[in-house]
Parts: sequence; structure tokens; C-alpha cells
Amino acid sequence: MGGFLLFICESGIDCMKESVNLISKLPGTGTTIFAVMTALANEHKALNMAQGFPDFNCPAELVERVNHWMKKGMNQYAPMPGVPVLREKIAQKTEKLYSAAYDPGTEVTVVGGGTLALYCAISAIVRENDEVIIIEPAYDSYIPAIELNGGKPVFSKLKYPGFQIDWQEIKKLINFRTRAILINTPHNPAGMAMSAQDMAMLEKLTENTDIVIISDEVYEHILFDGLEHQSVARYPKLASRSFIISSFGKTYHTTGWKMGYVLAPEKLSTEFRKIYQYLAFSANTPIQYAYADFMENEEHYLTLSAFYQQKRDLFQQMIKGSRFKIMDCRGSYFQLLGYDKISQDGDYEMAVRLTKEQGIASVPVSVFYHDKTDNKVLRFCFAKGEETLQKAAEILCKI
Ligand code: PMP
Ligand code: GLN
Repeated sequence: MGGFLLFICESGIDCMKESVNLISKLPGTGTTIFAVMTALANEHKALNMAQGFPDFNCPAELVERVNHWMKKGMNQYAPMPGVPVLREKIAQKTEKLYSAAYDPGTEVTVVGGGTLALYCAISAIVRENDEVIIIEPAYDSYIPAIELNGGKPVFSKLKYPGFQIDWQEIKKLINFRTRAILINTPHNPAGMAMSAQDMAMLEKLTENTDIVIISDEVYEHILFDGLEHQSVARYPKLASRSFIISSFGKTYHTTGWKMGYVLAPEKLSTEFRKIYQYLAFSANTPIQYAYADFMENEEHYLTLSAFYQQKRDLFQQMIKGSRFKIMDCRGSYFQLLGYDKISQDGDYEMAVRLTKEQGIASVPVSVFYHDKTDNKVLRFCFAKGEETLQKAAEILCKI
């Protein structure tokens, strides 16, 4: 039975409206931290180093290409798995970078953003009571996607403070219920990057099992100090059991365009597409053509690591004299800063206080742990212009 609420109708006459009884499907879930911190930053006119997005524009040529295809009339539905020319370009790039062959017809799917791609991949394979191993700290969309599909996330923490993967622990977590392992490299928020040894361990642990790997590689082009991206695509045994998720938003400074793609062997891609076709059907058409044109410019993604390394180095250099502890950052555009020499407040409280009182917004890292592990660390996005980085450093050095 529903309850009753009293409403004043437009006519001014009181009327009774029945409220529905609703049991939340995600009772423990609130609003994502990215929305919360961005709203708080805007409210207090603080520098938004919280949500991960560039504060500079994407290449003008890319915008020109979108306009071009819009004016040309490419404004209707794209084919469900993406426009063929873009899928071909993606397959060629993957072959060139990772020596992996994916069939653009059956194994490459263009999707409206990495988040949607992750959801579809999880939904395609996870059934009631299946376990999915998650490595924490973990991006916040993983757990709800697993739970909405009846699955059970099981957790292994990156060792703190080095953020290495604990393979012994993962080995112990694997059992007959393990449906998938979710990895993320380069890692948000830890800035960790998986090594060839990590991939060898993953290969060994999944050999002769039916475990699927969901490999979140949205920061594949942002690695520092000469490190190479360890895509699962490079490892045929891993690739044969993997969904690879990539996002154009990170690579082309276009997070607001929400477009990414998924690479997976045909058997997995077929199941993925069965879900995707009814969640979205297809992604934005003129933007797909524009990316296909712009991908000709290999320079853009081949120099992205150097572009962001310069920002990381500048930011680190400018806050060297502060009381924050600068943690290692090997990839992604996030810098973790420890503040235990400054305050013993919880990290959420600290992030809110810095936003309101000091005018700088960050993300408390405890939100990426199911048990809210609080190492007194905040995440700052350095995908920002020099002026923003300078202002941020000035504030941080005064704290
Ligand atoms: N995974 C990770 C680790 C991310 O940081 C992001 C960024 N939002 C995504 C997935 C999702 O990417 P997209 O913005 O394309 O949905
Ligand atoms: N990936 C970005 C981050 O980690 C933002 C994601 C979002 O706003 N949903 O901050």
C-alpha cells in the first residue's frame, strides 16, 4: 500500500496524491562525488580541481570537423555499433600500437562514453550472485553497475602508499563464483600504472578459468617517465577474455562529448551489443565522423603523455614547498596529495573545508573505497592550464 501526501493542486483545491512505496535498488548509493564537488566548487567559486576534466579547449580542428559533418547532414542515427570508418580507424590504431587485430565489423563497438561501455560490459556477463573482483580505490561507477545486475563486488586493496596490486590476495579471492576481474590502468585515482609483471600475474591467475577481464583503459595515452601502456590487447591470452574500454573524452580533451569504444573478441562483443542496442542503440553521428577524421593526426595521442607530464611536473614543482605529501603519479591526470601533516580531519571533511574556506576543490580518496578507507589523501586533477595550476599551487602552499 502506498502512503498519502497532501498536495495543493494548481486549481488551489487540496487534493490527495498517492505516493508509491519504493525500495531503492541502490540503497547505499548517494550522488556521485564528481557532481557533489563540482556543485560545491561552483557554489563557492572555488578552483575545480575535483572532477576530472580539462579547463582548456579541445583542438579547433576537431570542432571544425564536427561542424563540417553536421552541415553535411550527418545528423541521423549512426549504425548501432558505430560508423564503419571510425571502427576501422580504431582497429588500425589498436593494431599499430598494441599489435592486436580486432575485426571492425564484429569486435569494435563505438559507445556513448566509457561509463556506459563499462555498464554494458558488466551487464553482458554478470548474473545473480556472480562475483566480480574490484581493485580499490576504484572508479565509482563499477560497484553500482555490478549490483544492479545482481552481482557481488569483492575487493582487493592496492597496497598503500605504493599502490601496488596485491596478487596474492587476488589469488585467494578467486573461486568458482568469480565471473570477472575489473582492472584500470593507468589508474584513477591512484595514478598507478600496471607493469608487464602485473599482466603476467593476471594471465597466470586467469589461465584455464572462465573469468572475464574488464579492462578500463580510458587513460591509455597518459603515462609518464617513459612508461609504456600495458593494454591487455598486447597479451593474446588476456585479450581473448577481455573487454577493453577506451574513452575519446580523455584523449581529445572532449569529456563533454561522451564517446568511447569497446574492443572485445566476437563472442563477448556480440553479448555486449545485445545490451548496448537497447540502452542507447548508437552514439552521436557527426562526432563519430569527426573523430575518424581527426584520428589521422597520430601526433595528438602520441604526444599526449608529454603534454600531461609537463603539467604534472609543473604542478609538483610548484607545490614542493607546501606541507602536502606528493604521491607518485605514473599516469592519468590525477595527483594525490597527503595532508596528514596539516590536519587529522577526515578526507571528505577536509575536501569540503578546502573548497569553502580556501577556494580549491578536490576529491577525497576515501569515496573510492567501499569501506571508506581514509589515508588522509586528496585527489587533484591537473588537466588544467598553467594559470589554474599556478593559482592552485599558491593556495596549497599557504595551507
Ligand atoms: N573510467 C575511469 C577510470 C574514468 O576516470 C572515467 C572518466 N569519467 C571513465 C571510466 C568514464 O569515461 P567517460 O567520461 O567516457 O564516460
Ligand atoms: N572521470 C572523471 C573523474 O574521475 C569524471 C567523471 C564524472 O564526472 N562522471 O573525475
